[in-house]
Amino acid sequence: MTLMMSVSGVRGIVGETMTPELAVQLGTAFGSHLGGGHVILGRDSRPSGELLESAIKSGLLAVGCNVTELGIVTTPGAALTVLERSARGGVVVTASHNPVQWNGIKFLTAEGFAPPPEIAEKIFSRYRERHFNYADVDSVGHCQRDLSTNDRHVARVLRNLDVAAIRRRQLNVVLDSINGAGGASGKMLLERLGCKVIHVNAEPSGRFAHVPEPTAENLAGLCDTVLRAGADIGFAQDPDADRLAIIDNLGRYIGEECTLALSAKFVFAKTPGPAAANLSTSRMIDDLAARAGSKCVVHRTSVGEANVARAVLENNCVIGGEGNGGVIDPRVVPVRDSLAAMGLVLSLLAEDWRPFSNIVDELPRYVMIKQKFDLDRSQMDAWLQRVRMAAEGGRINDADGLRIDWPEGWVHVRPSNTEPIARVIAEASDAAAAESLARRITELR
Ligand code: MG
Repeated sequence: MTLMMSVSGVRGIVGETMTPELAVQLGTAFGSHLGGGHVILGRDSRPSGELLESAIKSGLLAVGCNVTELGIVTTPGAALTVLERSARGGVVVTASHNPVQWNGIKFLTAEGFAPPPEIAEKIFSRYRERHFNYADVDSVGHCQRDLSTNDRHVARVLRNLDVAAIRRRQLNVVLDSINGAGGASGKMLLERLGCKVIHVNAEPSGRFAHVPEPTAENLAGLCDTVLRAGADIGFAQDPDADRLAIIDNLGRYIGEECTLALSAKFVFAKTPGPAAANLSTSRMIDDLAARAGSKCVVHRTSVGEANVARAVLENNCVIGGEGNGGVIDPRVVPVRDSLAAMGLVLSLLAEDWRPFSNIVDELPRYVMIKQKFDLDRSQMDAWLQRVRMAAEGGRINDADGLRIDWPEGWVHVRPSNTEPIARVIAEASDAAAAESLARRITELR
């Protein structure tokens, strides 16, 4: 009922649809698909992580994979380990921003991110058909532990930063790790950067201190803390630490779209080059790229982290990401990484000694609205056709639903992959203009 299987992995409710039986079979299916070899296994801090990790490990060993267990790690940390160890693949036990009742199993390819849809389907059909290649007694796999992920990850982020410049700034930072997997490495990074850290929800207990999705309503407490502490900036990680939301020195939640924009602003200035973002991401990055010169062009991709990650690699991008606070710095790891994002945003502060709010206020200003409504798949195509006809004067991208860019703003319309609903995102310079763009599109239903 509540089991979701998609390219980004499998998610379910622990003890109902997410069970050890499921985990062992998915581990067996994935290991059979890989044909053995070295597999990296990590988990976020949820209380159910250990039981699912054991079950997946068992499945992997049974088909001859050798497993390196990382324990509680961030998703980008696990991806980095797949790359550094040249593993054949990886598995992360995480349900990202879903509440604690949920857990999930995310497969990583040798490139460190989710497999393309046709490969994901191959793995799932192996699972459904119990098409497992069990190893004989001489070739079952073995397991080892590696507890160095956080150290290696932090070192990798620091390698690309002007550490001395950031240290000189002696920043006061509040970090909210939501008792997720990113606390240890997040704090380590900030301390190496000479920050004075107030670390809240720092225990990797998986007992999420607030609703995990890092949105304004869920971070009101953090905004207060930043303001009361007189901090320079506040950061909030999601439970597997691939997304980052930011609070400015005035205690304002600045919106997850700004995480990528601020990171891109710094990277464009230092190392101008192409960028990648999905079609639902704000236009801020296009404006920043245009200001930064002709080398900075933005490649737009279908929604889904792996699509952005692939575009980053294929186009030699200097930065990539999504509007949900997911920033990809390919020098660190080609997946979304809250640590890489913190490093880039603090780099901006190290160069510009004004209060952070001044830097935020200089970003291009837009208002984005998001709507969803019931729409049967059978009606979707006809509607998209009408939207296309009405797109006069606009630039169309139909890689994933339809995105239409006009000078005054843009809309992105797409069907959900999992439910019979359509999503409409509109962005313009103010709320009224964004509403009017969205209305123009929804009226065509
Ligand atoms: Mg996440």
